[in-house]
Amino acid sequence: MESIWNKQTRIPGRNPLPGNLDTEIAVIGAGLAGILTAFYLAREGKEVLVLEASATGMGQTSGTTAKITSQHNLIYHSLLANRGMDMMKLYAESNQAAIQEYKRLIKDRRIQCHFQKRPAFLYTMEQPNAIHMEAIAARQAGIPASEVIDTQLPFTVKRALRFDSQASFHPLEFLEAISSSLTIFEHTPVLSVKGHAVITPYGNVTAEKIVFACHYPFPLIPGYYFARMYQERSYVLALSGAPDLEGMYLGIDPDGLSLRPAGSMLLVGGQSHRTGIPKPHAYESLASSACHLFPQASIACKWSAQDCITLDSLPYIGRFSRRNPHWFAATGFGKWGMTLSMVSALLLTDLICHGSSPWEHLYSPLRFPGISALPRLAGHMAESARGLVKGLFPGVMRCPHMGCKLSWNEAESTWDCPCHGSRFDSSGKLITGPSQTSCRCHKLIP
Ligand SMILES: Cc1cc2nc3c(=O)[nH]c(=O)nc-3n(C[C@H](O)[C@H](O)[C@H](O)COP(=O)(O)OP(=O)(O)OC[C@H]3O[C@@H](n4cnc5c(N)ncnc54)[C@H](O)[C@@H]3O)c2cc1C
Repeated sequence: MESIWNKQTRIPGRNPLPGNLDTEIAVIGAGLAGILTAFYLAREGKEVLVLEASATGMGQTSGTTAKITSQHNLIYHSLLANRGMDMMKLYAESNQAAIQEYKRLIKDRRIQCHFQKRPAFLYTMEQPNAIHMEAIAARQAGIPASEVIDTQLPFTVKRALRFDSQASFHPLEFLEAISSSLTIFEHTPVLSVKGHAVITPYGNVTAEKIVFACHYPFPLIPGYYFARMYQERSYVLALSGAPDLEGMYLGIDPDGLSLRPAGSMLLVGGQSHRTGIPKPHAYESLASSACHLFPQASIACKWSAQDCITLDSLPYIGRFSRRNPHWFAATGFGKWGMTLSMVSALLLTDLICHGSSPWEHLYSPLRFPGISALPRLAGHMAESARGLVKGLFPGVMRCPHMGCKLSWNEAESTWDCPCHGSRFDSSGKLITGPSQTSCRCHKLIP
């Protein structure tokens, strides 16, 4: 199901890799993270090429709601408790800098992408104290955050947290503009990476440095990203005929909604769940909430997408592993990949071109996630072990990534992996990784 962004914009296609090539930097993945990183590296004079398995912007970036914010759910209070004041301030500084950089870039290049300054709100009906604690932490981090009770929502909230000077945009219009001058090879899946060699079906690229911006880094070793991330799906409806909201909203209570105006439409998101753990009535439940709140509106379009969730809710941006100093990663955005893709691009450009970044320790993929991450680690390991054991039984649909049992997703007619989030269509064709290949299985329809 196509998003409104896909329906409104088609980025001109590029040819596949024509054969073996040498380059300074190879970026794997032409989503927002890969394209922004390639753009800033090229601006520093680096010779960069991008390898994309499908087409530019057609990964998870096409399914986003495209809020550009430094308000990322209840992140500041949790960062203060688990990583301390300095790291919390760095998170705020890097994401505020990312918003400013979007503003500057879009203005300087006169990019037509419906970029609009808006306030962002967290709201609650059940947890006013959580909002209060987040407000205190955000202010300590240097963000002018205010607690309010009045909002434009069609229901009464107990408390809301307002961040000013946040923004929204059209992600594919933006991508089209900044990717136009880049060297991109589409329909060129990277099969494996060995040292400096990036191997594709159409030839090998030899690169001094390699950036994995492919949403979920697919090598199992080194890096062990499969043990440190899982994926979560969320669903979005575009409503026409809904009232015009000025701000963007996210509910922090269970089944809280994400709301964001987009032209004449209102985007309503929610019903998140771990990919591969079926939620068959996700669209119906979301539609029922939307119809209840906006009875005069109708559903113009619906879609879903997924993102990687790390053990400590911070992305992995930086050196891929200790073993490969010339590999870099940008992943684990936890559904905040608009600002965090910009953070990735700025951080990786500093790291690659100048050897260091002021933000590298906060986001380093090599960090210890801390004691507070242990429950999430245990849950992830348990889910992965369950999927692996079930995958041992004969006759089940198995994910080629690590052999976990796939589950049938009724809402979208896909096979999904509960361990690491790979997805396949009903005939076993790969939709999204970390698996790099389609399923070879005799049982195609459940
Ligand atoms: C429903 C939903 C709503 C969201 N809303 C927001 C929001 O409002 N604000 C916000 O900040 N974030 C939001 N996010 C998160 C955000 O959309 C993502 O974090 C972001 O789009 C991820 O970008 P990416 O470039 O990492 O991944 P992608 O866009 O998926 O790009 C990765 C690319 O790599 C390619 N690739 C994969 N494997 C290979 C390979 N082997 N070889 C070559 N290419 C490969 C893929 O084809 C893909 O094009 C949302 C997420 C969801 C699920």
